[in-house]
Amino acid sequence: MCGIVGYIGKQNAYPILIKGLHRLEYRGYDSSGVALLNGQNKLNVYKAKGRVSDLEESCATKDTLGTVGIAHTRWATHGEPNNVNAHPHYSQSENLALIHNGIIENYAVLKAGLINEGYTFQSETDTEVLIQLIEYVKVSNNVDLYTAVQLALKQVIGAYAIAIIENANPDLIIAARKSSPLAVGIGKDEFFLASDASPIIEYTNKVVYLEDEEIAIIQRDEPLKIVNLNNHEKTPQITKLEMNLSALEKGGYEHFMLKEIFEQPRTLRDCMRGRINVENNNVTLSGIIDHKAKFQNARRILILACGTSWHAGLIGEYLFEEFCRIPVEVEYSSEFRYRHPVIFPDDIVIAISQSGETADTLAAIELAKEAGAFVYGICNVVGSSIPRNTHSGSYTHVGPEIGVASTKAFTAQVTVLTMMALNIAKERGAISQTRYEQTLSELSNVPAKIKEILELNPLIEDLSKTFTYAHNFIYLGRGYSYPIALEGALKLKEISYIHAEGYPAAEMKHGPIALIDQEMPVVVIATHDSTYEKTISNIQEIKARKGRILAIVNKDDDKVRAMADFIIEIPETEECLAPLLSVIPLQLLSYHIAVKKGRDVDMPRNLAKSVTVE
Ligand code: GLU
Repeated sequence: MCGIVGYIGKQNAYPILIKGLHRLEYRGYDSSGVALLNGQNKLNVYKAKGRVSDLEESCATKDTLGTVGIAHTRWATHGEPNNVNAHPHYSQSENLALIHNGIIENYAVLKAGLINEGYTFQSETDTEVLIQLIEYVKVSNNVDLYTAVQLALKQVIGAYAIAIIENANPDLIIAARKSSPLAVGIGKDEFFLASDASPIIEYTNKVVYLEDEEIAIIQRDEPLKIVNLNNHEKTPQITKLEMNLSALEKGGYEHFMLKEIFEQPRTLRDCMRGRINVENNNVTLSGIIDHKAKFQNARRILILACGTSWHAGLIGEYLFEEFCRIPVEVEYSSEFRYRHPVIFPDDIVIAISQSGETADTLAAIELAKEAGAFVYGICNVVGSSIPRNTHSGSYTHVGPEIGVASTKAFTAQVTVLTMMALNIAKERGAISQTRYEQTLSELSNVPAKIKEILELNPLIEDLSKTFTYAHNFIYLGRGYSYPIALEGALKLKEISYIHAEGYPAAEMKHGPIALIDQEMPVVVIATHDSTYEKTISNIQEIKARKGRILAIVNKDDDKVRAMADFIIEIPETEECLAPLLSVIPLQLLSYHIAVKKGRDVDMPRNLAKSVTVE
């Protein structure tokens, strides 16, 4: 959600900042802006509503010189998306400029105090209050910028990643974070600043991730200095990035989403690599083995997540209950944290988030930790906040996911949960050796089967034309396929803006069946599993009401073929692994419908990739 970029060094900052903003576009935003110190005592701020390309256009005739600057993509929380509310914001004297990601929760009280002191405001944002506060503290206490930031942040309640530059000091950027990610890249005679490593990777692989309540003092020709709000200095911990640049490009595909769908055979192999040993037929996750006793003694598993990760969590519930015989609850992080949850010290809490920065999940983790539970993170972004704030965990290892609608991260989350369930079941002696080996060897066949399904892409593209007219969709599935019905519906909503609902197939007759007529497409996952015959009855019920049925079936299913209007055939697998296959045609279907409707597939309206606000 929104992006921060900064540069100080010997090069011209503007092209680096703009390129960085483009790299962060995937996070979702509605406006952008840049502040540059041009070396002649002029602090220039330029902003534009819309895309980064709109900003570039409006800057074409402006003075964009300077070797220090900050830039921002905004995802509005306070005040509508427009040029005035876009960041950077000047302080009253225009001596300072600030960019901010997050929310200043007590901005109204702070603003009232500043108005009393004679400050005036141009925008409706909470962010402008922060820069005015910093200037007020700086002037009234006659202190330097760093001290003013430190004092001002002590008065702030909320979440922030910020960067500030000062007209009077062209050799300095001050940055700070709390609950919003921020990384400093260390180059030769230059520094980069960004919300994640993607704008930095082409210049240096050395980064320092800021921790909560830390301030970075980034000075030209000086080593990086990190001090916290209580004035304790710490030695910067440098992380070596392993990401490569090609992972951030489209590689010949029309959209990142399509590229990421097609990457899944490889990403799932990467996710299993080093964890599944095919020769010995076993799976070990170091995050579990290092804390064996915890998993052996756990009485309950709580899974916390939001959005697509929550759907992966539902599949986790089925897996853990089937294999480990541990009761599981799956919760939306945002609900969990606000409803006085009962958490026991022998609970295992599994937090799932692609970005590792999801604000609601981070807050729910804190709650679980306070109650003494053991917290395990499943995340994709290495070094992000969740892995740093949990007791143990597993990375999904699928590389950067740029498309806002999650695809490869989802299948990898499900794969990690499957490996976890098998590993824990084995440790607890809850699974027979035959079943364990069978499921494991079938799991290693999943990437090849996904590859086979991807060959259906032209057929699915063709099929998608039939459905672009639809205003509503229903998705149905039972058992392990129920979370996939939810995920299929969410994917369609997210990128095509068509209203879609997922239901457990049996639940249909308790309400949604009223919606079915000849206009209503119903996607049914009807693969060969323990509820297959029941699903067939549900298909009959839809047919009797003239619904248009698109069924996901296993090969040579003449029974469903005879009833459905359209079918997509996928290979057979074990029931518990079927979600990894049945989700693929649904990802492709949403993608092609959205493309046919002319939607911005990689950056759908109103959505953000990493939801860093609550
Ligand atoms: N709350 C700030 C605003 O609305 C920052 C939002 C963001 O994170 O982009 O301007």
